[in-house]
Amino acid sequence: MQIGIAGLGRMGAAMAARLMEVGHTLTVWNRSPEKAKPLVDAGAKLAATPEDLAEHSDVIITMLMDAAAIDHVYNGEHGLLVGDVAGKLFIEMSTVRPEIEIALAAVARAEGAAFVECPVGGTTGPARQGKLFGFMGAEPADAARARPILEQLCRRVEHVGPVGNGALAKFTINMPLMIYYQALGEALAMARPMGLAPERLMDIICDTSGAPTMMKVRGPVVARMLQGEDAAVTFPLEGCVKDLQSMQAEGRARGLSLPLTQMTLACMEESASSGIADKEAAMHAVYWSKK
Ligand code: NAP
Repeated sequence: MQIGIAGLGRMGAAMAARLMEVGHTLTVWNRSPEKAKPLVDAGAKLAATPEDLAEHSDVIITMLMDAAAIDHVYNGEHGLLVGDVAGKLFIEMSTVRPEIEIALAAVARAEGAAFVECPVGGTTGPARQGKLFGFMGAEPADAARARPILEQLCRRVEHVGPVGNGALAKFTINMPLMIYYQALGEALAMARPMGLAPERLMDIICDTSGAPTMMKVRGPVVARMLQGEDAAVTFPLEGCVKDLQSMQAEGRARGLSLPLTQMTLACMEESASSGIADKEAAMHAVYWSKK
């Protein structure tokens, strides 16, 4: 089985490296071709276009930034769906609104291809180690076809219903995480008068129920950020803004009241526009703590 991956950003490149490590020969494509170089040096084949990638693959995984990127890569000139894709399996793993995945599934199926969405929880480390959490939306037969590959990328794959439900599940887990960064920023502002060293303060917070699981790993990073150090970017603040905008639009379309999502979005738009949009997401909490 030939696997192709389109989208070699932070997540796509880590996932590609993981699949090569477990023995797959990959064909890869990325809009900015230089990001493919480490994978090509390690033995991956480079496709000239998404169309070329689809032609040389049985299963095509996509990990792209947003809806515009998906439209470009699937439906653009020399896009994934331009050639004969009958019988191929597409696994779309980006974080976008359900309607994007549902529309894409319809187009792929009309071309005779199978389509599975599987956005993921977990960042670049888990992606590289095959320890993501996959939220799969798919028809049962397509899910069964995709599962063995997804299990090489994920510690857990949950089939949560038809295409569209995977995106909803991803929003469901990301929403409290993003609101947490705002909560943490406000808590750190409250803590400031104590004058505790950032490392000690984060150690205290992370040893209590004031911190979700992710802070066990991110806590020391936040401590370094509080001291003015830069952190490697695994997920940028602008990614949070993109996701919160999608969640808010989804909530509006479904008649849901999401006041904390709305306020967190406004607060993150403010911090992002202060010049830290491309920094690690937790920088938002640091920005807020010093307001
Ligand atoms: P990233 O490093 O910014 O990579 C984005 C990818 O999308 C790159 O391959 C980029 O190509 C491509 N792209 C963007 N706009 C495009 C366009 N118009 N046409 C073609 N390609 C385009 O982002 P990432 O962190 O890997 O995230 C990818 C997806 O996974 C996002 O939906 C994100 O929300 C989700 N996610 C991220 C994390 C995380 O921790 N990073 C965790 C879970 C889920 P270029 O290289 O040419 O820019």
